[in-house]
Amino acid sequence: MASVQIADVRKAYGSTQVIHGVDIDINDGEFVILVGPSGCGKSTLLRMIAGLENISGGEIRIGPKVVNDVPPKERDIAMVFQNYALYPHMTVADNMAFSMKLRKAPKSEIDERVSKAAQILGLNNLLERYPRQLSGGQRQRVAMGRAIVRDPQVFLFDEPLSNLDAKLRVQMRTEIKELHQRLKTTTVYVTHDQIEAMTMADKIVVMHDGIVEQMGAPLELYDRP
Ligand code: ADP
Ligand code: ADP
Repeated sequence: MASVQIADVRKAYGSTQVIHGVDIDINDGEFVILVGPSGCGKSTLLRMIAGLENISGGEIRIGPKVVNDVPPKERDIAMVFQNYALYPHMTVADNMAFSMKLRKAPKSEIDERVSKAAQILGLNNLLERYPRQLSGGQRQRVAMGRAIVRDPQVFLFDEPLSNLDAKLRVQMRTEIKELHQRLKTTTVYVTHDQIEAMTMADKIVVMHDGIVEQMGAPLELYDRP
């Protein structure tokens, strides 16, 4: 678990500036949702927190460390994508174990963490299946399992529920929230869905055209007289 400090962060692609000096302080264990219309810069900001995108100005720190000073292999974050990004040729168990294998973790530790994650996410009976043999919701659960197996300092979610049908979306909101209450991992979650933001976030950051328009607890933002 770690705080995330985003200070005067800017991003340009060529001569086009898409993020204009964003400041966000995220506390240890907080669940923060970035919300706003398509194209406002949410994913770009998330990718910069992940260190997947260079920063044009300002600074992002995870705990005491500046993101871009930490070599990629030592970055202690896990990201969950909209399209799940599972490896099609690997079983559920192998998908979940993969990042720890890359890090050469001992097999006993990998097995223990995979089985704990499978239990938390209700994947015990699916460990030998391949992604194509799973429903959409199950795939998204495996993607989350892969993230929690690593026990990262920070979880990043990029529109994780957008490909699911309405009923499953509501169910997965509750599951993700419960997962957060259990693990208390600092989370930054991107969505364009205001209801998701309202029901899941400790703090909502409303973005518009590359700036932060509003920031606060759900009731502070949406329950004004
Ligand atoms: P959101 O996630 O809020 O939909 P993005 O962060 O994806 O927004 O995009 C913000 C802006 O940056 C958009 O105008 C988008 O077209 C632009 N953009 C995103 N990625 C690139 C890129 N690789 N090259 C050029 N422009 C990009
Ligand atoms: P969704 O519409 O939510 O994606 P599906 O209709 O694909 O769900 O799947 C419904 C159920 O059938 C799920 O429990 C899933 O695990 C199971 N299932 C889907 N495809 C296969 C398959 N190829 N082999 C075994 N089970 C499958």
